[in-house]
Amino acid sequence: MDLIEHFVSGKKFSGNSKNTGKVFNPATGEQSAEVKLASSDDLNKAVESAINAFESWSNKPALQRSRVMFKFKELIEKNFDELTKIIVSEHGKVYEDAKGSLTRGLEVVEYACGISQMLKGEFTENVGTNVDSWSVRQPLGVCAGITPFNFPAMVPMWMFPMAIACGNTFVLKPSEKDPSCSIRLAELFIEAGLPKGVFNVINGGKEAVDAIINNKNISAVSFVGSTPIAKYIYENCAKNEKRVQALGGAKNHCVVMPDCDLDQAVNGLMGAAYGSAGERCMAQSVVVAVGNIADLLVKKLAKKVEILKIGPGLDKKSEMGPLITKEHLQKVKNYVDIGVKEGAKLIVDGRKLNLQGFDKGFFMGGCLFDHVEKSMKIYKEEIFGPVLSVVRVKNFDEALKLVNDHEFGNGVSIFTRDGDTGRTFSNKVKIGMVGINIPIPVPVAFHSFGGWKRSLFGDQHMHGPEGVRFYTKLKTITSKWPSGLRSDPEFTMPTMK
Ligand code: NAD
Repeated sequence: MDLIEHFVSGKKFSGNSKNTGKVFNPATGEQSAEVKLASSDDLNKAVESAINAFESWSNKPALQRSRVMFKFKELIEKNFDELTKIIVSEHGKVYEDAKGSLTRGLEVVEYACGISQMLKGEFTENVGTNVDSWSVRQPLGVCAGITPFNFPAMVPMWMFPMAIACGNTFVLKPSEKDPSCSIRLAELFIEAGLPKGVFNVINGGKEAVDAIINNKNISAVSFVGSTPIAKYIYENCAKNEKRVQALGGAKNHCVVMPDCDLDQAVNGLMGAAYGSAGERCMAQSVVVAVGNIADLLVKKLAKKVEILKIGPGLDKKSEMGPLITKEHLQKVKNYVDIGVKEGAKLIVDGRKLNLQGFDKGFFMGGCLFDHVEKSMKIYKEEIFGPVLSVVRVKNFDEALKLVNDHEFGNGVSIFTRDGDTGRTFSNKVKIGMVGINIPIPVPVAFHSFGGWKRSLFGDQHMHGPEGVRFYTKLKTITSKWPSGLRSDPEFTMPTMK
């Protein structure tokens, strides 16, 4: 059985903890590896390594840091197929989808290659007579990232390329369910010329996370995962005086207006609801059918959900792969049971799917509910599986209110042909990422990613300009040269004359 270790100071690191976790291939249901679960000592060792690397890395000109980033980009491209297959084998998503998610991560590396431009700062000559003022952004020190299972490459890559390009050093704690991709990325980064200790990976669960929270030498923590853990990270990191951004769960709505191109909406919804088996923070899990569109919409959706091609991620014909673990599969099925008990109408039932040759894999079919009410648990909670709920509303105002009243605020989309409806919706909706005729409105690398309400605790989104702000602190320098310095002491508040 393979053993997945940590990666510290440029090489594999065993640590002193004897604890391990199991990693599965979700398509076969078989265990593929054991992963080391770090103790707080192990985590502290990685932080020491990152502290030692900081001085020299942060002093390197940004251009030199970006040259390493360019090389890293090339190596990711060269090893694209291998990295994609690692994602498929531990997460389960289908190959093309895994490739897409890795591309999204690569785009952040590409953005980080231009870091010199982003760290340029601002300069004002003569803010007062013979006085100049300028501002610079300097790195924070050691930063840490804690990431979820559903994007084993992309979500870590929202964080560490930005932090490292800005001159910080980094300790990543990926999900213990699919850790191999992070280790491979760390190896490639060293091959690209990154000095040892700048990027470290520690595998583990709660003990490693708590060690991050309690380590006084970590300046900033980026978290992505479920809302209860995001809140825990946010509160405790803030208590320990760290900078923190903690992205949480979601319940994304798709508003379908009666005037829309219905086939375009249905196709968009199929990918957004059932792609990656619904295990995406930007998955669509609620369709808000407005006015008289509902019957036809449900009919068209049902037809497509019934013929979804479900299978292992490496099979080119598969449109949807398995769920991450047996426990998660059971949790999703339980939600479907609850929905039926609550009185929602189950139009397509995927609970009983049995895939020939893969009967131990963590597969289920797509499920479609109609007549879901906002009081129901299946409407209120994040299911994180291939289950789509249709809520029927009378008009646009009711749809907007429904979206805005939900506790989560990650993503939303609207399908309409009317510009005024689209504009009013995007203006009034209380959600961080909005799509107009776009089912999964994930911002590209040079914009920033993040939700509102209980989908994000903290005030900076991930990557893009917000990432640069998060991983640097602002310093403003004001200066005056000889003639001014030789003046008499002044005891009043300085004003610029
Ligand atoms: P999770 O919250 O269970 O785990 C996330 C991370 O926290 C993992 O590294 C895990 O080891 C750690 N962790 C888990 N339990 C912990 C505990 N009790 N104490 C300390 N650390 C703990 O999330 P997950 O199941 O891996 O991922 C799915 C969730 O992530 C969903 O809710 C999804 O919406 C969310 N997500 C959000 C975004 C976003 O951008 N908002 C993106 C991807 C995933």
